[in-house]
Amino acid sequence: MLRLCLLLPPAAAFWLPITIRPEKEIPDVAVCCQESGLQSCTQAQINPEDLGGGQIVIPNGPDGQIFTFNNAIPPFNINTKSFNYISELEESLVIVYNPSNGNMHAHCKLASGNSIKLEYCGIEGHVWKLLGSPIIQDEGELDHGLLEPDGPNVVADFNGLVEKGKASDDPASYSVKFYYTKAFKAATPDIEGFTDLCIAETNQGYINSGIKVTVLRCCIEEATIDEIQNAYDFYYAFRDMKGSTTKLRGTADQTTLLSMSFGAGGIGAVNSISRGGTVTIAQKNYAVGYFTFGHEIGHNFGCLHDPANSNNIAYPDGHGHLIERIDIDSVGYRTVLAYSAEGHSQRVNHYSNPDVMFSTTQTSTGVEGLSNNARVIMINRFAMEAVGDESECTATCGQESPPTTMLTLLELMGELFELLYEIFVTIIIIIS
Ligand SMILES: [Zn+2]
Repeated sequence: MLRLCLLLPPAAAFWLPITIRPEKEIPDVAVCCQESGLQSCTQAQINPEDLGGGQIVIPNGPDGQIFTFNNAIPPFNINTKSFNYISELEESLVIVYNPSNGNMHAHCKLASGNSIKLEYCGIEGHVWKLLGSPIIQDEGELDHGLLEPDGPNVVADFNGLVEKGKASDDPASYSVKFYYTKAFKAATPDIEGFTDLCIAETNQGYINSGIKVTVLRCCIEEATIDEIQNAYDFYYAFRDMKGSTTKLRGTADQTTLLSMSFGAGGIGAVNSISRGGTVTIAQKNYAVGYFTFGHEIGHNFGCLHDPANSNNIAYPDGHGHLIERIDIDSVGYRTVLAYSAEGHSQRVNHYSNPDVMFSTTQTSTGVEGLSNNARVIMINRFAMEAVGDESECTATCGQESPPTTMLTLLELMGELFELLYEIFVTIIIIIS
């Protein structure tokens, strides 16, 4: 904690949770500063003492904004603290902080289309990145029926749990086991912090959309496959990496592979909960920068893209939504599952829901009977929760340490040593 305080400029009139030093550019050889579309990568100083309150000011210029604390983000019973700050333009800055290692991560999609990101970058310390509008590389969807036609149902009483999802108002939670590729590891000094940001931003999206669901992390593991450019081949290689999706999930409800560049922003099986095929891949640049982590899991729940790009047979209202603009010249928005369309370039952290208004435009985020992905997630939430039992979601992630057989051997050696010592002492006593 002392280290963090010493990093603050002494001239600061009041302490801010994050201070950006635009004059201190980070070398572009830094592993965190090599993303495509990067406009700047500068040093950031953090003051975690004031997180959960106060304001954050990002540098002056076309994207200069003041962000004010709005809400803490669940889950609240873990070490990582997560917060949501908002600007006057309703831009949302999601921040995660881990007190045990002092690392902080953040992301905000600005109204201009640019993104700002904070990342802990190892020896470079914390870096603050400004990224231009991404070259949109939308996400693929896989019809689950084509993937595992003979797979047995993993979720017992799936239909009963869906009925419970329709009738109940109770909240639910589901767990994600994360994998990462070697290339992702090389570009990400703090993988755990990055997954915390994926979790926090998705939970904020659920809050924004009136969805009573919380996503939790269950273990992080390095994948044994390399990245494959073809998105479908990559997906199949990941799905089959351990021989079955049950082994791949490792008792979690869902599993996501974090990757660097491949032929799609992300990819995921559609409507795949009943058979436990809750498997997705997301690119690092898109996972939080474009809400792709939550987008792909939305596919697992049964959500599809906007009606112009998808036809949802299982759930006729399971589509993304193009949010109606205030006027023809204003910025156009769309929900997490909607593809880009003319006049709706900016994706926002909302799942379509006819009962929720988008505050910036004061227009609805869904259409009854056509675009209500929030309902699809809500009715499937108890079934998703029942995919895995989380028995291996422990600190050791199911790995015993040390193995029981080794303990037994050590105990036997200890007892043998004690016996020899007693014999030795007895002989000495007799001799003396
Ligand atoms: Zn998609």
